[in-house]
Amino acid sequence: MKIKALKGFKDIVPGEVELWQYLERVARDVFDRFHFREIRLPILEETELFARSIGEATDIVEKEMYTFVDKKITMRPEATASLLRAYIEHGLYVQKPVQKLFTIGPMFRHERPQKGRLRQFHQMDIEVLGSENARVDTELMAMGAMLLNELGLQVSLELNSLGCPECRPGYRTALLSYIEERHDSLCSDCKRRSTTNPLRVLDCKVPSCRKQILDAPSILDHLCGQCEDHFDKVQAGLQQLGVEYRLNKFMVRGLDYYCRTTFEFITTDLGAQAAVAAGGRYDGLIETLGGPSNSPGIGFAIGMERLVLLLQQQETSYVEADQVDLYIAGIGKQGSQVGFGLAHEMRAGKYSVAMDHEGRSLKSQMKQANKTGARFVLIIGDAELESGKGILRNMLSKEDQQEIDLSASAIVECIPEKSPIADSIMSGRLKEKNSTD
Ligand code: ATP
Ligand code: MG
Repeated sequence: MKIKALKGFKDIVPGEVELWQYLERVARDVFDRFHFREIRLPILEETELFARSIGEATDIVEKEMYTFVDKKITMRPEATASLLRAYIEHGLYVQKPVQKLFTIGPMFRHERPQKGRLRQFHQMDIEVLGSENARVDTELMAMGAMLLNELGLQVSLELNSLGCPECRPGYRTALLSYIEERHDSLCSDCKRRSTTNPLRVLDCKVPSCRKQILDAPSILDHLCGQCEDHFDKVQAGLQQLGVEYRLNKFMVRGLDYYCRTTFEFITTDLGAQAAVAAGGRYDGLIETLGGPSNSPGIGFAIGMERLVLLLQQQETSYVEADQVDLYIAGIGKQGSQVGFGLAHEMRAGKYSVAMDHEGRSLKSQMKQANKTGARFVLIIGDAELESGKGILRNMLSKEDQQEIDLSASAIVECIPEKSPIADSIMSGRLKEKNSTD
């Protein structure tokens, strides 16, 4: 019996992986411009870390985590908790009062797999730790918008404030009494939520519940002076930087730790999986996890699968990335032996080289070279060995063919510019369909 990948776990194969590399390169470039530094984190953590940070009464902790029950460890369902754990563990706050960090990698949640929803999925997670300043909120959203824009994606930003421990209780009471009046019309999940976490009712996707909450009181009318001031500054900042946004008073986010600013980048092109990125402020969380007091933080996570789907949908195509500088066609035992050595020398000289070791005919090797998109082919057969000169064919201008010495330095002279694989993924190989048509 064939063994297949687990449900909700996906391979990213050549042909698709180039799009992921492209996405990461553009993102790293943007993060760099905003002066973020990378941190790499483990995938397994103590279960307690997620229970304490994300919150016991959240979907993630209640039903989505992959946990080794006997060992009390869990495969991370998101990155913020791990990143904060590392921030505290290494005392990163001592080195720099404000830390700007990002991490990229797989997350694990036991959900029902759908388009844009997997059990192992990938996020780019970006966090700013140690500043309460509204500019930080603005800058983070502006960076997200810049990245999505540079990827050519049409995505809109939705914004809300969840207040703070000062003002939220008052709002909670107002919301509770509104919900209680409509209790019988709510779905069973919301009936339960109305006692455990009433704000989550606002977030329910069931159409009948959505209808019921249309006139629910808005948190924005209950913000305390400080939260209101912060929220005004965030919005003024977005306006100053020309970042478009829309207020969404129903956006509460799934995680317990959020306060003040919360935001989502939304698309209409992925059906139910509308959020491509989401995040918010979590000013008390670092302290809750044993870090220093008064250490505010804010962050967001970008869902990479959803961005890749959008890139594919928007017909961003890429030229087959299986492309080399040189294909060496060695004919016969001797020819291929000499070619084998030259290939190694050329690779050490930073050229990408492909070669066949199966002793195929010249015709079949030329076919392969074409398929590989080789810029040049070097033919070494018996006649070439005898004369000591190989035939170098320029595959772009087919007729252009010359005899050259069978040495790496001679070949290098005839292949003017090398094209490091990494660079060409960004340049020529990934093109808008329109521009290539
Ligand atoms: P959703 O409402 O879609 O379940 P979420 O609120 O659970 O999203 P977050 O925990 O905020 O999502 O994660 C941030 C981003 O990660 C989401 O906006 C989404 O793009 C992506 N994401 C979350 N869960 C998955 C998943 N199971 N598969 C693929 N991407 C995901
Ligand atoms: Mg979810």
